[in-house]
Amino acid sequence: MAQKILKEQEDFGNVTNSYLGREMWYSNDFFINSLILNFITDAEDDLVNELKKIYVGVLGNPGLDAEAINMDDEFEGYLIKTHFDIDIQLDLFSHFVSYHLYGMQLSDERARFNLLPEMCEKLLLLMDKEALLKKAILEDVHDDLEVDIKSPRLNIATDLFVAGMSFILGHEIGHHFLKHTESNGRNLVSKFIPTDVTYNQRYLDEFAADDFGFNLLIRGMKKRNDNTLFAPLIVILMLALYDKHPEEASQYHPSLRDRYLNLLSRVSEHNEAIALTLQRIFNDIATWINHTLLGYWKTEWWK
Ligand SMILES: [Zn+2]
Repeated sequence: MAQKILKEQEDFGNVTNSYLGREMWYSNDFFINSLILNFITDAEDDLVNELKKIYVGVLGNPGLDAEAINMDDEFEGYLIKTHFDIDIQLDLFSHFVSYHLYGMQLSDERARFNLLPEMCEKLLLLMDKEALLKKAILEDVHDDLEVDIKSPRLNIATDLFVAGMSFILGHEIGHHFLKHTESNGRNLVSKFIPTDVTYNQRYLDEFAADDFGFNLLIRGMKKRNDNTLFAPLIVILMLALYDKHPEEASQYHPSLRDRYLNLLSRVSEHNEAIALTLQRIFNDIATWINHTLLGYWKTEWWK
């Protein structure tokens, strides 16, 4: 896997540099490259040098995940892989949430009501992955971003999307910087400790990576607002769309419920009033999703 991404890095760098004259690329995706650049711009000395060793390979095959690749003796940088549809899904999900947030600003009930069909359509598309990918390939999903730059709803969607992608990257960078990916580190040791302890450690690693991503996000965002703080919670809600039991932990991951509650407490440390507001909005959206999908989740896992 590492080889495949390194090859991709080399090819991309060679092609791109031949007409842009830049030497360092942090991803083969321009948008992700710009997010890493943001992190670097806002970081302090030591962190800057570490961040410059990151490379995010975006692979062409579908799959809703991002992964910090275990460290490799032949490459001293930090490799992360993601799939192209994480971008598409988070973009669509940010639009979905933006209808709700925008609707909250409207005093006219009818105008608010008129947003519902769009919201339903986005949700159903999110649940139908095949249709979503087809749509993404046929018509660029980013098209509507160019329609009306001044639209307040689009601004909300863009804020959520940019902050959400930053959080996802920050989480994976966290796995690297917190040394979860050192092949001669934890992995080796974990062979000698009982299985249930290993699971516990994995859970702790996920929370730690979430905390790291959250801190990187709020340090880096220039115009930090409530949407920035909401974005990590929204990422969890999006992941829950593909998990019928967000209240259950798996062998490798803590439950989405616990990750949500952990992130909410990070927001609360930052600003308690905002945390309470975001918790209420999260509840409204999650409840709406569950009603619309006729009780998709068996529990109100977010409560
Ligand atoms: Zn993780």
